[in-house]
Amino acid sequence: MKALSLLLILISQTAFATSDIKNEPANIHPGEVRVITFPAPDKSSVFSCKGEVLKWSFKNGMGSAIVIESYFSELHPFVCKLELNGKLAHQISFEVKPRDYKAEVLKVNPKTIKLAAKDEERVWKEQKVLDRIYASSQTEFQFEAPFVQPMNSAITSVYGTKRVYNNQKKGQHLGIDYRAAIGQKVPATNAGIVMFAGDLFYTGWTVILDHGMDIFTVYGHLDKTLVTAGSKVKRSEIIGLSGNTGRTSGPHLHWGVKVHGQYIDGMSLIDETQKYFQK
Ligand SMILES: [Zn+2]
Repeated sequence: MKALSLLLILISQTAFATSDIKNEPANIHPGEVRVITFPAPDKSSVFSCKGEVLKWSFKNGMGSAIVIESYFSELHPFVCKLELNGKLAHQISFEVKPRDYKAEVLKVNPKTIKLAAKDEERVWKEQKVLDRIYASSQTEFQFEAPFVQPMNSAITSVYGTKRVYNNQKKGQHLGIDYRAAIGQKVPATNAGIVMFAGDLFYTGWTVILDHGMDIFTVYGHLDKTLVTAGSKVKRSEIIGLSGNTGRTSGPHLHWGVKVHGQYIDGMSLIDETQKYFQK
């Protein structure tokens, strides 16, 4: 019996070692995600991209993982690997193609660019809290359907827009802004766990959801939050009301998507999860 199971292990390892390793490289652009699936020997395999170990999901002999490329990419090709006991079981190569992000010019009072010392201290304290949240994602997907946009209204600032304040590039907008009056219902863009519902310096009243596997969504400048930290929400459940809190230039909803510690384009997460759930 022992010999037979050993033989089976050898056969399955050989099968995984030879299949799909010579895949064509996949494409990704800065600020985007890819949801990938691959044959997997078992859950004890280690999945890594660019040498960094990442969470992955194992079901019915298949693995799923989410791969990102930072907005600040230097466009280097990279490889994701699944390894069992140090042996390569599956490999996917990625080529990083450039993507153009537009610039918008904003005129602001120079005083509002520099933070006062007490605000700087507040921002620093809030960052500690947020860092802990973003390091604590569930190890399985918390959703069973694609992500959806939080609103159907006009997008007033797309992801990745470079912001030029008073003729100096001072950053980029790494979320999507939706036109919204004060008091409009804001739904969860997918099922998840409420990790934060409170007031932050930059994004005002804010809700942060963990969707598992290091995927988080952020809803900012709310007038009011309608959920509490620790509770589970369904896709499209109302989590707050839109508003004009925090650092804003008028009422709107800011939707941020953070994956593996980087803000990425929510539209890419919607597209990729739609493809994933069609399979
Ligand atoms: Zn925004």
